[in-house]
Amino acid sequence: MLLKTVISQVELSYVDTNKLTDLEKNKQYCYETLAKVSRSFAMVIKQLPDDAKEAIGVFYLVLRGLDTIEDDPNLSLENKHQLLNEFCDNLGDYNWKLENVGDKPEYVDLMRQFYRVNHVFASLEPEYRAVIAEKCRLMADGMIDYSSKEINTREEFDEYCYYVAGVVGEGLTGIFYSSGYEAFQSNDLSISMGLFLQKTNIIRDYLEDIESDRVFWPREVWSKYAQKLEDFKLLSNETQSIACVNDLITETLRHIPNCITYLETLKNKSVLRFCAIPQLMALGTLVKLYNNPKVFMSVVKLNKIISMQIVAGSDSIQSIKDWYLSFLKDLEKKLTASDPNYSQTLAAIENCKVALK
Ligand code: MG
Repeated sequence: MLLKTVISQVELSYVDTNKLTDLEKNKQYCYETLAKVSRSFAMVIKQLPDDAKEAIGVFYLVLRGLDTIEDDPNLSLENKHQLLNEFCDNLGDYNWKLENVGDKPEYVDLMRQFYRVNHVFASLEPEYRAVIAEKCRLMADGMIDYSSKEINTREEFDEYCYYVAGVVGEGLTGIFYSSGYEAFQSNDLSISMGLFLQKTNIIRDYLEDIESDRVFWPREVWSKYAQKLEDFKLLSNETQSIACVNDLITETLRHIPNCITYLETLKNKSVLRFCAIPQLMALGTLVKLYNNPKVFMSVVKLNKIISMQIVAGSDSIQSIKDWYLSFLKDLEKKLTASDPNYSQTLAAIENCKVALK
């Protein structure tokens, strides 16, 4: 009896080792792919403790999978809807993959080997899987909803950004909670964290997006400054184009007080760094975008040295708040009284400063 037990344990551990080998290979694939599909995220994820790192890495790749389908210009609307649904329905399936989907080689590869991500997903704790699966479905539904709908109002802009980024803030907060690193469930503040990052990207990516024929700026805002979205590229429209960017930036600044409160609530230093670094980089980018005609000619990026300084200098909530204040002061210096939203921008900066106190 005893021998039998020993043998079955040996057999079990043999099977487990085999499984682990496959799983380890697939984990390795996930980390390598993370580095390829997002250099900045692969960098900040290093800040996290091991167990949360794995769940969040998988979460990122799942969302990247959805975004790859959403952004593929060669898919018909119908096909896109079908694939977004199929993607969610097969989350965790070791055999599921998609051929020839994605507009960059690294995205095509991710979809072609998605069964590997699914394998790692299936190995996660049930609480993590539940959060990831729920947010994946929510984001897919939002993408389907907005794939055939224009973003007209500021409310719709918020709603679209909620689906593609606010949901990420909620999911990350859910994972921090499940891991025991943080004690609070997702809330409005989690959503603001996602919205701030997403809106910054949407403002920055005007040129890239207009070349792919899909700009996410809300019509309610941009139509004050031009007849057509393409007109923002015209040199003759420069004053209006810059005013529009500044308007969108002002609208994005209103999320900052919530983001500061969210960061203040975090207890775990690694989680704090993971959350704060992208926020500060986005704010730095936003300051660079303000009053900047280059938005319409190239991709405006934050200086690499400043990025490295942010990574090195975001060790405590106080140093993070110092960065916020420093960027806000830089922004204030860039304001011009002739800008149509000058007083609103000034008031938004003031609100951020109050939140920092
Ligand atoms: Mg997308």
